[in-house]
Amino acid sequence: MSHKQARFYESVLANFDRAAKHSGLPAGLLAQIRECNAVYQMRFPVKMGNSYEVVEAYRVQHSHHRLPTKGGIRFSHLVNQEEVMALASLMTYKCAIVDVPFGGAKGGVKVSPRKYSEDQLEKITRRYTTELIRKNFIGPGVDVPAPDYGTGPREMAWILDTYNQLKNGDIDGLACVTGKPVNHGGIAGRTEATGRGVYYGLRELLSYEDDMAAIGLTAGMKDKTIVIQGLGNVGSYTGTICQKEGGAKIVGISEMEGTIYSKDGIDVEKLIKFRKQTGSILGFPGTETLEVREDWVALECDILIPAALESQITADNADLVKAKIIGEAANGPVTDVAEDMLTAKGIIVVPDMFLNAGGVTVSYFEWLKNLSHMRFGRLEKRFDQNTYANIMDVIEKTTGKKVSNRDKSMIVRGADEVDLVRSGLEETMITAYKEIRDIKKRKKKLSTLREAAFLSALNKIASDYMQLGVFP
Ligand code: GLU
Repeated sequence: MSHKQARFYESVLANFDRAAKHSGLPAGLLAQIRECNAVYQMRFPVKMGNSYEVVEAYRVQHSHHRLPTKGGIRFSHLVNQEEVMALASLMTYKCAIVDVPFGGAKGGVKVSPRKYSEDQLEKITRRYTTELIRKNFIGPGVDVPAPDYGTGPREMAWILDTYNQLKNGDIDGLACVTGKPVNHGGIAGRTEATGRGVYYGLRELLSYEDDMAAIGLTAGMKDKTIVIQGLGNVGSYTGTICQKEGGAKIVGISEMEGTIYSKDGIDVEKLIKFRKQTGSILGFPGTETLEVREDWVALECDILIPAALESQITADNADLVKAKIIGEAANGPVTDVAEDMLTAKGIIVVPDMFLNAGGVTVSYFEWLKNLSHMRFGRLEKRFDQNTYANIMDVIEKTTGKKVSNRDKSMIVRGADEVDLVRSGLEETMITAYKEIRDIKKRKKKLSTLREAAFLSALNKIASDYMQLGVFP
């Protein structure tokens, strides 16, 4: 385990302790919330060609104060128990902050997906799922996995199929995993959800004129310069949506192969296509490549968005940051020590447990859809559409004026599933940010948004425990 990885769980615990001091909650209750409730460590053999490989994997359920527990599954050669424990803990706080009624969990399989064929990955995923079923670590009311780094809808479809084979007759079986392909019980808008949530979260933060003036920025996302680390699922959608809907200028992108920069802005959608064709972001027209890949941290910009892995901004490089805002799209990209250094310089760190909660929020919608056995919008879409059409008729009759067809089609429209999902996500991110901001304003002793976010979570989790009668 590398030094950076070892720091991740420590950093999560240190952040918890720092916020817990301000909570006024009893020590015993805080201790119960802090620890991981169940850690399942497994080793299983998978036949690869003529030989067997032993795969190391985990599922950690951090908190059972609400069920099911929820969180993604990571496929990476860097996976280790402490990392999964850190990620599971973050899921608990994340769910509480956005009022998603789940406990936190996370899974990890120590494999590098790049090294295996699709068939081999399917074997590994199915075997991992069987292990989870055997120990009752998966199920619609027990623990519901989702995608994370190195996994996506394809892996979720394998998990669902394995679950259904072994749990034949479970009428709610579809809800055993989220992030599924839409034609396999998934929900429209899940794939983009984390990135879209990052956009809504940042847009809300940027909308407060006074808060922005305090760090020398004008309000609003339009024309803000952004640098993104990671062009995976989260980074791609964050970049595209901030650019297209927020009018931001993406001036730098960092990936495994290097970092590119352009002060005039990079068209993220075109860059994603370019990378698919050439296998690299380097050489994208109109951009220059930095000599040192890691220098993305030091690029001139308003907002820096690490959207890859944990422990990227540490005590070693925090001093180099020139941005005014760091948006944690990844889980744990800024260590606790680095955050102290950034805060001392007046830089705002928008914490992961709020900013990247869009993924689990839409997972919650998907889970509800699966349990209701019906697509969102099916009942009301036509009713709404007919009502709006009637209203338009009345307006035209009373005013004697015709509304243009273009305006009419914009107004006379019932919501599709994706409209409702986006609306629910937008509402969730705005409400959560307002809660966190209010706590930060009220409690003068708090120095970071992360402490405020933790307090928002701790209050909700504590009240759940008290209702359970566990703590009087
Ligand atoms: N892996 C994502 C996260 O870290 C999503 C989890 C989920 O949808 O359950 O938040």
